[in-house]
Amino acid sequence: MEKQPLYEGKAKQIFAADNPGEYIVYFKDDATAFNGLKKGTIADKGVLNNKISSFFFKLLGEKGIPHHFIRMISDREMLVKELKILQVEVVVRNIAAGSLAKRIGWEEGTKLPSTVLELYYKNDELGDPLINEYHIEAMGLATKEQVKTMSEYALQINSILSTYLKDKKLELIDFKLEFGVHNGEVILGDEISPDTCRFWDTETGQKMDKDRFRRDLGNVEEAYQEVLQRLTGEVL
Ligand code: UDP
Repeated sequence: MEKQPLYEGKAKQIFAADNPGEYIVYFKDDATAFNGLKKGTIADKGVLNNKISSFFFKLLGEKGIPHHFIRMISDREMLVKELKILQVEVVVRNIAAGSLAKRIGWEEGTKLPSTVLELYYKNDELGDPLINEYHIEAMGLATKEQVKTMSEYALQINSILSTYLKDKKLELIDFKLEFGVHNGEVILGDEISPDTCRFWDTETGQKMDKDRFRRDLGNVEEAYQEVLQRLTGEVL
């Protein structure tokens, strides 16, 4: 009998691992956008996102950011620490794009004079609404201390990744992080990939992320491939 996932999301499945306290994350090729209204698949996305996320987790670990990644166990699977995911999505933005550009009426591509950090309630039924630390406290989603820790890590991650990516001729426009609790500590979970970040080529401005799927720009798989190649030199 096929192993049943403990949890299945839009792009990933989570399985129990042999060791208690560990999970296996399986990356699928399925892609969704606009809160599940648009559905499709991107060839090899699971493999690419597993490899790209693994690369970023390793890089962040070396820079002192605690995370759930243990190791890759196959092209589409990574072994991770079991986490109790906090139902808060942390978004960091350097350049106005997507929902922020719409909300504040700034043209997409406008550089933000200072970094913007946003918190969203991770709830598909409600379409992940924007919330603040007062909502989080009142709703019991996380403690004040946990929000502070997540925010500090998120800003550190922004500076580590922005610097790293600039060297690879990629501009980090914005990204989303999820954190969880492991042994009482808040650590980084989920994934960091072109599904969860916006990357623009620094020279051409070309979008190298999931916006190619969201907006039907074509060459979606090629863009994900290019991100992996710029990061690790690997070609699938
Ligand atoms: N994002 C994500 N999951 C979500 C919502 C956003 O990974 O459920 C990422 C998205 O890829 C982008 C950043 O968070 O890098 C900011 O997204 P935005 O709020 O602009 O929303 P979108 O335009 O994607 O609806």
